[in-house]
Amino acid sequence: MIYNEFHGKKLSRLGFGCMRFKTDETGEIDLAKVKEMFKKALEGGVNYFDTAYTYVNTKSELAIAEALKDVPRESYFLADKFPGHTLPGPVDNGELFEVQLKKCGTDYFDFYLLHNVNEWSMKVYGSDEYHVIPDIVKKKEEGKIRHFGFSFHGSCELLESFLDAHPGMFDFVQIQCNYLDWTLQDAKRKYDIITSRGLGVWVMEPCRGGKLANLMEEHSVRLKEAGNGGSDASYAFRFVQGLPGIKMILSGMNEPEQVEDNLATFETYRPLSQEETDVLMQIAEEMKKGVPCTGCRYCCDGCPMGLDIPYLLDCYNSIKVQASVPSFMRIDALDEDKRPGACIGCGQCACACPQGIDVPSVLAELDKLWKEGPKWSELSKGRRESIKQVLGIEE
Ligand code: SF4
Ligand code: SF4
Repeated sequence: MIYNEFHGKKLSRLGFGCMRFKTDETGEIDLAKVKEMFKKALEGGVNYFDTAYTYVNTKSELAIAEALKDVPRESYFLADKFPGHTLPGPVDNGELFEVQLKKCGTDYFDFYLLHNVNEWSMKVYGSDEYHVIPDIVKKKEEGKIRHFGFSFHGSCELLESFLDAHPGMFDFVQIQCNYLDWTLQDAKRKYDIITSRGLGVWVMEPCRGGKLANLMEEHSVRLKEAGNGGSDASYAFRFVQGLPGIKMILSGMNEPEQVEDNLATFETYRPLSQEETDVLMQIAEEMKKGVPCTGCRYCCDGCPMGLDIPYLLDCYNSIKVQASVPSFMRIDALDEDKRPGACIGCGQCACACPQGIDVPSVLAELDKLWKEGPKWSELSKGRRESIKQVLGIEE
């Protein structure tokens, strides 16, 4: 196992993401499999386990506690996340935090994150009424959190403003980073923003939810010809391993074979050759869908509806590659008169666009995709109910 030094801690470069545990038909986690995977991971040198209140329908924390109960607490690092994006309303944040400690069978978290900071969840994290950040800072002062950070799914502008608003508060930021999102979701710029402030970069979705672990055959063959074997996933991991600011690479493992393959990739550091990097970048370009918006904003000044056109096109491009809940949440976050459906089709933007993008048509398609897409308020209903239940909140 290769390791990283972070604030005096020796972190395995591979972290065990606990969001994809397999469940049976009743929704229960296959605990025997979790134990088998954890045993392999620990034997292979993994010492970081990452969970969240919401993972696996709020059951991941309990499964971790059970699977790690016989492992000395000081021999591994545990990360958990505050479900600010899922709260039923302002709650007793401190009490909810204590519930998480109890579920995980521990009295401290080595790493604790605000879960899913984005434009939508800023309604909670940025709100005095919800009072989340001061309450979590209090837990850190009490010694129940060693390092404080946040996972992030928003724009570069929000990342900068959020960090600027909380100088010195966070030690690390978890972002979606892989060779496809390096340019598609501006992961490179986010990496630069985080590292330029001296903070650690934590990586989630290094294989983009499995997409980069199972490439189309043509891409997979090209990659193997450029390199010397190895799984598709191994190239995705080696890409992020090569970025020195990345201190943790999380993989949501759910099969023992996947654990074995990942352990083999993290046994030694084998930097990508220039040829391998070039092929990865070509594959990323070929996987991209959507429109070639450069974010120049020439279209924005003349928009009679005041729409943030590059923001909307960025959401569109993400959704076209892979429709994910965070991408839809970024549209949910907007006021109705700033969503794609507010476009009146005047065409001013299309005339101004040096890339020749037919913005009104794209926004009409985005409006349709968003209306048909998943709604966070519906998806998170069960989790909000669970929080009410554990905190004894009556209607
Ligand atoms: S077509 Fe839509 S997005 Fe473009 S300028 Fe007109 S209202 Fe704005
Ligand atoms: S003018 Fe074209 S490329 Fe520039 S931000 Fe607008 S849509 Fe994007």
